[in-house]
Parts: sequence; structure tokens; C-alpha cells
Amino acid sequence: MRLYSTLSRRLQELPPPPGPIRMYFCGPTVYQRAHIGNARPFVLGMWVRAWLRQSGYEATLVHNITDVNDKIYDAAPGASAELAARATEWYLQDTADLGLGMPDGLPKATDAIPSIVRFIEQLVDAGHAYAVEGDVYFRVASDQGYGRLSGQRPDQVEEQEPNALKEDPRDFALWKANKPGEDTAWESPWGRGRPGWHIECSAMAEDAFGPVFEIHGGGLDLVFPHHENEVAQSLALGHEFAQIWMHNGMVGGLGGEKMSKSLGNDVSLRNVLDTWGREVALMFFLGAHWRKPIDFGDDVLVQAKAQVDAFRNFFLEERSGDEAGEQILEDELAAVLDDDFNTPEALALFHAWRDREEWVSLRWGLGLFGLGSLAEVDEAPAEVADLAERRREARAAKDFAGADRLRDEIAAAGWDVRDVSEPPGYRLVRRS
Ligand SMILES: [Zn+2]
Repeated sequence: MRLYSTLSRRLQELPPPPGPIRMYFCGPTVYQRAHIGNARPFVLGMWVRAWLRQSGYEATLVHNITDVNDKIYDAAPGASAELAARATEWYLQDTADLGLGMPDGLPKATDAIPSIVRFIEQLVDAGHAYAVEGDVYFRVASDQGYGRLSGQRPDQVEEQEPNALKEDPRDFALWKANKPGEDTAWESPWGRGRPGWHIECSAMAEDAFGPVFEIHGGGLDLVFPHHENEVAQSLALGHEFAQIWMHNGMVGGLGGEKMSKSLGNDVSLRNVLDTWGREVALMFFLGAHWRKPIDFGDDVLVQAKAQVDAFRNFFLEERSGDEAGEQILEDELAAVLDDDFNTPEALALFHAWRDREEWVSLRWGLGLFGLGSLAEVDEAPAEVADLAERRREARAAKDFAGADRLRDEIAAAGWDVRDVSEPPGYRLVRRS
């Protein structure tokens, strides 16, 4: 399997199965409900893990939670820890509701303070960092290769975290002294304070996997400064750190006015799940290559829903054939997923399998992406089945107005009634 790496700027081959393949994907800063764009690295990480395991790898995914940060202090003055705890629960609930399972580890920055402090001490001891009035900064000039990930030239790096006391405008904070208005702080050799953002991921990734691991992921907006600084910190201690850097494209169109009528412009993952359902959300992501940007809005959700319905309708037909004798066409799917995890090609293949009535393979393939539910035909509850039976009787008696009323009642209960030729003449389908 090959994946494109931002660091090497080329496709890189994974080691052969069973690996291991250890993946660290940067997670959310928890101060509000995650929006649909925040869900993309989560979905990508879970899908890659599922496919690697299917391919015989020992694959592990760690996805961190940034629960101490300026954004959290600003959003909840005096109660930042409470907000972070609540928003962490929201994130875990909303991502769990995508139906993809959960990562193997979900470390929180505030649980990693001892590792973070140790990491900073080692950087200070090695001459790669220095303390100024309770802050500690990374000495960018000590890293000859700085800019290796983002492609910035070392002498043209954008200034980070302005402070006149820094040796060099490029230097970035590893530890920040406690300031008025910041209601959380921890003891350290440099006084009370809290970690910088970048050091937490170097520390948590290495806590999980040791000094070298296979894949580091996150949104393209994290390349600079977050990931550039993570690499600098870890390489400064002689650690190899991540072998492949996967950066997913951004979800666009989230800030615009009147972007989504259906969502009332609330683009939280929660609202997308409640309004459109998890299958439509997953289909939205499946249709775009992970490295490419995708625009979000009602039109693409409508398209995604049409595809969800097409697969569900396919499985409503009685699928015939000896299932035990059916061959899973794994090689066809591997040909596109092993080539930089091309999910739009996988989706095209699923449609081709639908046309070829390769239903056993299709059910298996959709299941890898959390869409196995499209192949399950739900049994309607007794009261809905009763309404459908009464509607059949009304139609037989040519009481079409009564039949329409019953159809509306069935719809209100969350079901569609479809007329078919086989007995009993209708089929109940859960509305998506
Ligand atoms: Zn991170």
C-alpha cells in the first residue's frame, strides 16, 4: 500500500503486513461542538485503520484531545476546564454516532503534563530550548532543517507567538507561564504554567508509540506551524518520529452566509447527523479523495443522499444466489485503496458492483466504510406494519384519500411504504 507524504512529497510504500502501522492523528481543541470539517481526519483515520486491518496489518490509531488552549480560556473565562470536559464529551458522542467505532487511544493534553515537562527539560538540556520569565521557547536557529515539512525557508519563516524577550522571532513556546484570566496551571521547573500546543502532540505521540511510528495525520491547516514544530521538537532529541505525514484537504464553504438552508447554517457534526443521518455524512466524505478539498453545502448533501438511497434500494430487492459460494472481490477494491487510499474510485467500484449485482462484495465493501447498514433491511414495528396493512385494504376498497392519510401516518412514524408486485403488494422501508 502506498500513501502520499507531505514530508517526502511523494507516494511512500508501507512496510508489508503485519506492520505494525501506528497512526497518530491530531484531534480537536475542545471548546465548542465539532463542525463537519473537524470530522474529516477522524473519519479518514478510522477508515484507513479498517482497511489496514482488513489487509492483514496490526493497525493502531491514536487521536488526541487538546483540552488546554487559548481558545478554551477565551470561550469560558473562569470555567475553562469545565467547558473542555463538556466539549470532550460532545466530541466523543458525535464521532461515536458516525458508527465507525473509536480510536485505540484518545489521550488528553492535561493528562500528559508529566511527559510534556520531561520532553521540554530534555530540549533545554540539549540546548534546543531556553526559559524566559517562566516561558520556555524552542530555539529554531538550532535546527538547520527547520521548514522541512511546510517548505518554508529557514530564513523566511513566519513569526510565531510575538514576544520581545525571545532570542529569535521564529522561536515558539513549549511552556507558557500562567497569566491573569487563565484558570488552569501546572507546576514545572520554570514555574506555574501550561504547555504550548505543539509540544503536547510530540509528547503524546511518543507516549503512545515511542520515538518512531509510521503515520502522522491531521488537516492541511496544521502543516505550519503545528506539525513543522512537532517534527522539529522530536528530531532535536534524535527521534525519527513519523515516517509518513498524511494531511487531509479542508472542508470548504463552512463560513459562508446561507450556506445550508437544511442545517440553518449550523454546520456542527451533531446537526449534520441529526438532520441528514450518519450514512449521508459518510457518503459525503467517501466521494472525495482525502488529499483534496471538498465544498460543503446542501447540493453535495443531496447528491450524497441520492447515492445512499441507490445502495439501500438495491438491497431492498431480494438478493438471490448462494452466499457461501460468492467470492469477495477484495483484489478489485485493493487496486484503488492501496493506491493512496482512493475512496472516490472505491465508490465508483461500489456502483459498478451494484450494476453487476455483486451484492455479497458490495455489502462487504460498504461495511468497511461504516455503511453496512445500507445492506440491512429493517423489520418495521408492528404498529407501522398494521398501518400498512390498513392502507392496502383502503386501496383495495378504492378509498384513495384514506390510503393517502395512512401513507402520511406511516411517514410520520419514520417509514416509507412502497408498492411492489410481490405479495403483500407493498414493502416498508425506513426513511433515511
Ligand atoms: Zn497535534
